[in-house]
Amino acid sequence: MKRIILPIFAFLFFGCKKDKTSSPVPTVKTTEYTFDNDANSGLMFKDGESIEVLTSEARRYEIGKVLRVKAINATTIEVANFAPVDIVDATILLTIEGQAKPIKLFRIAKIRAHAVQEIKYPFMEGNTKFLNIEDQEIDLAPYKTTGLALNQVSFDFTGDTDLIKKLKTLAKLKWKIKYHDFDPADDPTNNWKENIDAKDVRRYTGLMINLAYLIQAESTKTAFIAEPITDNNNVLLTTAQKEEALKKMIDIPTFNCGLVVNVSGLGGGYTFGVANHVLNDYLTNDVSFIAIHEISHMIGYSHSSSMTYPTNPGNRGAVVAMGTVYREMLTKDILPIKTSNYYKPADL
Ligand SMILES: [Zn+2]
Repeated sequence: MKRIILPIFAFLFFGCKKDKTSSPVPTVKTTEYTFDNDANSGLMFKDGESIEVLTSEARRYEIGKVLRVKAINATTIEVANFAPVDIVDATILLTIEGQAKPIKLFRIAKIRAHAVQEIKYPFMEGNTKFLNIEDQEIDLAPYKTTGLALNQVSFDFTGDTDLIKKLKTLAKLKWKIKYHDFDPADDPTNNWKENIDAKDVRRYTGLMINLAYLIQAESTKTAFIAEPITDNNNVLLTTAQKEEALKKMIDIPTFNCGLVVNVSGLGGGYTFGVANHVLNDYLTNDVSFIAIHEISHMIGYSHSSSMTYPTNPGNRGAVVAMGTVYREMLTKDILPIKTSNYYKPADL
C-alpha cells in the first residue's frame, strides 16, 4: 500500500509546485494596442510641419515620460512617443486621484517613433475590469458613462525591455522640454537659426534623451566627483559642491531648446541651444564639450569655471569627465538612442 501512495504524493507535490508559479491566474486581460502605421497613428515632427505646431505648448514633454499619455477630455486620451525610436512591450499606468495603486490601463505591443494617436479610454468601449500594479482586480464601471475628470488622472509607462528600463531612469531628471524658434523675426545678426524645422526637432529629441541618460548615470557621478573642477572664482569645488552641481543639472525644471548658428552652443537660464553639427554628431561622437558646457551655464557657471571649459593644470573639467563617460557609452553601445535604432536614417 505504501509503495503505491508514495509515487502519487510525489506527483501531487510536483503538480502543486508547478501550479503555484503560474498563480494567481488573472481573469482580466489587459487590452493591447499597436500604433505602428498610418492607419493606427499619426506622426509628430513630420517634414513640413509648421513652426507653430513644432513649438506648440501641446508638444511639451517630460524627459521621464517620453512615452506620454495625456487626457484630452473625460473620455479621450492621447498617446505620444517623443523618442526617435520604436518602443515595444510597454504598459500604460493610470492613477486616479484617491486610488493608491496605479491601474494597468492598456498595453502597447508597439508604438513607432514619434507616433501620436488619440483613443477612447479602454473602459468606455470594452470590458470595465482592470488590474492594478499588484494584479488586483479593479472595476472602472463607475466611469463608463461619465469618463474621468482631467484633474483626477495622471499617467506613466512601464515595461521590462532594455530600452524601457533605460528610458525609465530618466525619471530622475525634472526636465520639461519644448522646442523653440528663438528668432521669429528672422534677424540675420543673431545666433539663432531663422526657422527650426522638423528634422532639427526629430534629432533633438534623441540628443536630449542621451544627455539625460548621461547625467543620471552612476558612472557619470563617479567620474564627476573624481574630477578636479573649479568654480567661477577658479577655486576647486569640494565633493559636496560637485554633488550639488550635478543635482542642479538633474533638477533643471525646463529646457527651452533651440538651434544656433555661427556658434556651437548657447545656454543660460532655461535656454539651451546647440548647432546643427551637434545634432549630427551625438550618435557617434562625444558632444559634452558643447552640451555640458551649455548646461553648466544654465546652472550658473561662467567661462571662469572649469564646469564650462577645461582648465590647467592638466586640462581638467566637467566636460572632460562627462566626455569620457559619453565616449564609453558610445563604445559599449549602451546609450538609449543610437544609430542602429534611430528611425529615420536619412536624418543622420
Ligand atoms: Zn559658454
